[in-house]
Parts: sequence; structure tokens; C-alpha cells
Amino acid sequence: MFDVAVVGLGPGGSSAAYYAAKSGAKVVAFEKRREIGIPIQCGEYLPREHMFKEILPSAKHIDLLVSYPRELIRVKTRGVVLYSPKGKPYRDSFDGYIVDRAGFDKWLASLAVGAGVDLRIESTVYSIRWMDGFYRLYVSSPAGKYEVDSKVVILACGASSPLNEMVGLDKEEDPYNLSPVIQVQMAGADVPEEDIEMYTGNEYCPGAYAWIFPRGDGFANVGLGIRKPYLPKDKGWGIRDYLWHFIRNHPIASEKLRGAKPISIVGGLVPVGPPLKSVGRNVLLVGDAANHVLASVGAGIPTAVIGGSLAGKVSAGYVSGDNELTLYERLWREEFGDALDAGYKIRQAIDVLNRSDKLMEKGLELFGEQHMSDFVRAKLSMSIRFMSWVSSIARTL
Ligand SMILES: Cc1cc2nc3c(=O)[nH]c(=O)nc-3n(C[C@H](O)[C@H](O)[C@H](O)COP(=O)(O)OP(=O)(O)OC[C@H]3O[C@@H](n4cnc5c(N)ncnc54)[C@H](O)[C@@H]3O)c2cc1C
Repeated sequence: MFDVAVVGLGPGGSSAAYYAAKSGAKVVAFEKRREIGIPIQCGEYLPREHMFKEILPSAKHIDLLVSYPRELIRVKTRGVVLYSPKGKPYRDSFDGYIVDRAGFDKWLASLAVGAGVDLRIESTVYSIRWMDGFYRLYVSSPAGKYEVDSKVVILACGASSPLNEMVGLDKEEDPYNLSPVIQVQMAGADVPEEDIEMYTGNEYCPGAYAWIFPRGDGFANVGLGIRKPYLPKDKGWGIRDYLWHFIRNHPIASEKLRGAKPISIVGGLVPVGPPLKSVGRNVLLVGDAANHVLASVGAGIPTAVIGGSLAGKVSAGYVSGDNELTLYERLWREEFGDALDAGYKIRQAIDVLNRSDKLMEKGLELFGEQHMSDFVRAKLSMSIRFMSWVSSIARTL
């Protein structure tokens, strides 16, 4: 019998496993992939150490986000540029890193192993059942199928996992709250390393945005998201069509990417809804599984790591009788709840602008210059003003 079983070893799961073991629990952790962190389904962007004070001012559990090996940093960026549908740039100074995400995930997993976690790759948890006092996890691995029992389960297995429902919790299903994304890593890209770039416009990324993030040495992460309710019904395009259209035909992006070639392609699903209930009977949800993502921009590594750290500590405390599991929900709300709320409200306001490129252009013109900084930092004060302002212009157009 284990104290804590963690399902999924992305940044959320490994942080949870590490902290649970470090706090004295007997921990087992499962990852279905053959190699932790591979394929990289990520733009690999993280705020620099000093920016956490600005974006998550109440977060205390940021140690894993500021102490990873410096050789994982590929590029130091200094700003964020948001392009309007017509190509007008709005820039904000914001210090970030492009970090080797596969290396980052492996580093977190190595900390978990060092703390004593029984870590198992190529191990898919395909079912979970409550057994009157503990959970039984059903695992499939190359060696065959087997079962493992644990007092507490932490689900950190990404967005919209069927495992959420097996433990009596919701999974995100609303198509407005889920953004399918696709990304290519390109070689031979002549993109400046100063800034990360985001592009808007319904012709290229309906309901979401496209991005070009410099990866150093001529590499770039180029991707985009869409949301299904925003796809024009008559066009019949899939997400790949939008990606190649962006790379080949976007007036600004295609110039920057001329001559570059894709060397890998990945898809994914980013949850952009409000946080889900994250505590159930002897179970906690972490990271994307709980919708812990800044919905305005789709960033989820910091909240997965902080939430995972909290879930690990709280679950160990629960097993030793020191606290209730509900403490987890209170703590993550204290540390990053405001940012998630603000990100979601800003996303709802942006949804109004997403109705047409004309509205987006006008919105950015009137708001972009002055408030880019608050947008990038997902400030609650900004979200309230932005919401009421967007509603008023939407009524006039
Ligand atoms: C293309 C793309 C670009 C992104 N860019 C950024 C960015 O630049 N910056 C940022 O902050 N965020 C970014 N995000 C979001 C970020 O990647 C996620 O928010 C973050 O990875 C969440 O971490 P997690 O640990 O919750 O989940 P994940 O990283 O998704 O990890 C979940 C793990 O669970 C495993 N798993 C799933 N089901 C099972 C099962 N049944 N049994 C065993 N294992 C299982 C999966 O294989 C996976 O390894 C991006 C997302 C995508 C898709």
C-alpha cells in the first residue's frame, strides 16, 4: 500500500511526487510516455525569476521555478509583442526564458527519484477504483497489467482526462474552454531573440492566437491554437491547415520564417476555462487536469509546479494526520487563485473581440498601447475594466 500515487509526470506531477516524498510519504508515480518530457508539447516559455513577484505576487512555492539548472536556459527574452489582425505590434517589456522543456521535466523527475519516489515510465493508469478506504489503480506497462493500491491519488495527467470522472470529479469538456493547439519546431528560422511574439486574427487562429518563440541557434517554436466554436463552418479547415497557412502566408510571420523548415510537429490541448473542483474523496487534481492555466495566454507551467508542490505537501500531511485534503484548495487559491480568475475574465473579454477582426483591431487600438503590461501580467484590476469596456464597445459596433 502506497501513501500517495501520482498519475502523470509533467511539471505538475513530478513537483507533487517530489514534495510528497520529501514530506515523508511513500510515493509511487506513473508516466505513460517512454521518455519523460518527450515529445515536447510546449512553447517552452517561462517568466524569469524576478517576474514571479509581478505575475503571481502571493505565490510562495516558486522554489522549483527559480532553481532549475541554468544550462536548460536556451534564450533570454526581454519582451512580448502582440500583433493585431492587421499586423500592428503592441509591445511590453517582460523578462522571460525559453527553457529546454524536456530537460526541465526530466530534472523535476530526477528530484522526485532523489526524494525516494518509485517512478515508473511506460506505465499507463487506465482505470481507478475506490475500494472503501483506498484507491486501486489499474496499470498497463510493457511487462503486463497490474494493480497498485494507494491511500491518496494525485491526478496530474493533463487536460480533460477520463480519470477525473473515475474519481468522481469533473473534466473540462466545454469547447469554449478547450483550445486544441499545434506546434512545429523550425530550424533555419531567422527570428530575433529579443522577444516572444503572439499573433491575432481569425484568418489564422480563430478563437486563440499564433506564436513564434525564438529557441536559439536558428530554432523557433511556431504554433497556434484554435477554438472549435470559432471555426467558420463553411471553410472545412483543420488545425494543420491553419498552421501551414500562418507559416506560409501571414504577411509578417511568413517573412520571418522564410527558408525555415519544420523538424518536429506536436499537437496538444490547452484548458482555458475556470478552475475545476480540485479536491475529491482522497484525491487531488493538479495542473492542466484542474484547469490551472492562465486562460488569457494559455500558460500553465508555473501554476502546475506551484500547485503540484502544494498537493504533494498536503497529501503527505493528510496521510500523517496533520491536515485535511481540503487545505490544498485553500492554499492554491491563496497562491495563484487571483491570477487564474483574472486570466479567465480577460479571456472572456477577448472572446468578445474574437467575434471579428475589426473588433479585435479596434480593441487593441484603444486598449493595447496603455494596458499591454496588465494583459501580459493577467491583472485582476485590468480584467474588470477591460470587461466593462469591451462590453460597451461591443454594443456600439
Ligand atoms: C503546444 C503547447 C505550448 C505550450 N506552451 C507553453 C509555454 O510556453 N509556457 C507555459 O507556461 N505553458 C505552455 N503550455 C501549457 C503547459 O505545457 C501546460 O500547462 C503544462 O505542461 C501543465 O503541466 P501538467 O503537469 O499539468 O500536465 P502535462 O505537462 O500535460 O503532463 C501530463 C502528463 O501525464 C501523462 N499522462 C496522461 N494520462 C496518463 C495516464 N493515464 N497514465 C500515466 N500517465 C499519463 C502524460 O503523458 C503527460 O506526461 C503549452 C501547451 C501546449 C500544448
